[in-house]
Amino acid sequence: MTRNGDGFFPVDELLIDAVIDWSYRRIVGGEDPMTGARPASELAAALDGAISPEGIGGHEALRRWAHTIVPATRAMGESMNLAYVPAAPTAAALTFDLAVSSAQIMGALWETGAGAIAAENQALRWLTALAGWPEESGGVFVQGGTVGNLSALVAARERARARRGSQPNRWRIAAGEAAHSSIAAAARVMDVDVLWVDGDDAGRIDGPALAAALAADGDPASVVAVVANVGATNAGIIDRLDSLADVCEAHDLWLHVDGAYGLASLVAPSMRERLRGIERADSFVVDPHKWLFAPYDCCALVYRDPVAARAAHSQHAGYLEHVDREVWNPSDHAIQLSRRARGLPLWFSLATHGTDRYAAAIEHVLSIAHSVTDGIREREHLELVLEPDLSIVLFRRPGWSEEQMLAWSDEHARLGTALVVPTRWNDELVFRLCFVNPATDPARVLRLLDTLL
Ligand SMILES: *Cc1c(COP(=O)(O)O)cnc(C)c1O
Repeated sequence: MTRNGDGFFPVDELLIDAVIDWSYRRIVGGEDPMTGARPASELAAALDGAISPEGIGGHEALRRWAHTIVPATRAMGESMNLAYVPAAPTAAALTFDLAVSSAQIMGALWETGAGAIAAENQALRWLTALAGWPEESGGVFVQGGTVGNLSALVAARERARARRGSQPNRWRIAAGEAAHSSIAAAARVMDVDVLWVDGDDAGRIDGPALAAALAADGDPASVVAVVANVGATNAGIIDRLDSLADVCEAHDLWLHVDGAYGLASLVAPSMRERLRGIERADSFVVDPHKWLFAPYDCCALVYRDPVAARAAHSQHAGYLEHVDREVWNPSDHAIQLSRRARGLPLWFSLATHGTDRYAAAIEHVLSIAHSVTDGIREREHLELVLEPDLSIVLFRRPGWSEEQMLAWSDEHARLGTALVVPTRWNDELVFRLCFVNPATDPARVLRLLDTLL
């Protein structure tokens, strides 16, 4: 073995020890809820001089990491962090991320990353089997739901381009208003338009609504794909997959399921029935960095027919001429080439704990959301906004102004007691709780909500 950096970049074994020791203490000791952003000018001053012709040395750089950099970040895995979509990575997954980095695996091509890719594909197969998909389905771990959604929709458009005789002036995708912001962003990047489908009171779309939108439209043949939500980010709603799949079949539309947050519920037996229709989708994404207990950044992107994905995404050039295309090259399935084998921390944690524990942990998170929902219903000073489909709970505090809500939220963020960030729901600012962490104590959350009295 050659050691990295000999010569130009001398190896300091004490420094390696110090970095690993810091990581060890962080993983074992947990996260500090008191962390948060600081003004850029303060951080620039605190980090001043770190990059210089001579360098400041690894030990000083590590000191700045521990004392300046990390404290100015937010602990996403902290159990009272209930904002946006937080995270709850297992210690096994976090630790293994260090090993994956150290192994320097180039996960783009089978030739360079075969072992890692085989393991990543095992983790993907766990998900596609839960969805009831055939053996030949598959995909790739990408950076996040945004890149996953874009990659799937590009594959859908390319399939339509290849299959359909006529080409419209502009291609379109259909989605409900509750679709994540990354869907509109993907449409902009692809330079396609969005056909908006009406949802029910909570924003859920179904087959009849999609059929009505297509029937009322002047150019339904320009629509190539439909995006369905399993766990829309604002309220966690789930669209009616089965009836959407009926209409997609009738119109030759690609059904893409955006489950970045909520499709982790595929693992929970209690959710099986509600997710019926997922077995008929053409592609889906789920972010293990959200509710599947893996570290950032990690999105599982899978296709029922990976051949369609390869047709859209394979890159070709003189320097890629000798790439074996008969084997599984992850980069052929998304908008990316070089890639870290970012699915391996999930694989390791699954192998360590077993999938039963994943099912139990996700069921437990659902039960936390139910307990808190019941508690909100029982409290006279609070009002549930809608019955949750998953683990996002929206509620209001009647009588409070937006200023009072934001002040309460800021106060708890500053104290480190909890991170609860309000959201806008039908033009109204409401409180929003997002549960992904089985360590969250519902009684503690309800005590927090009693401070809204
Ligand atoms: C978070 C989220 C995304 C975007 O995922 P990133 O990993 O942040 O890029 C897309 N869709 C839904 C429903 C999400 O919750």
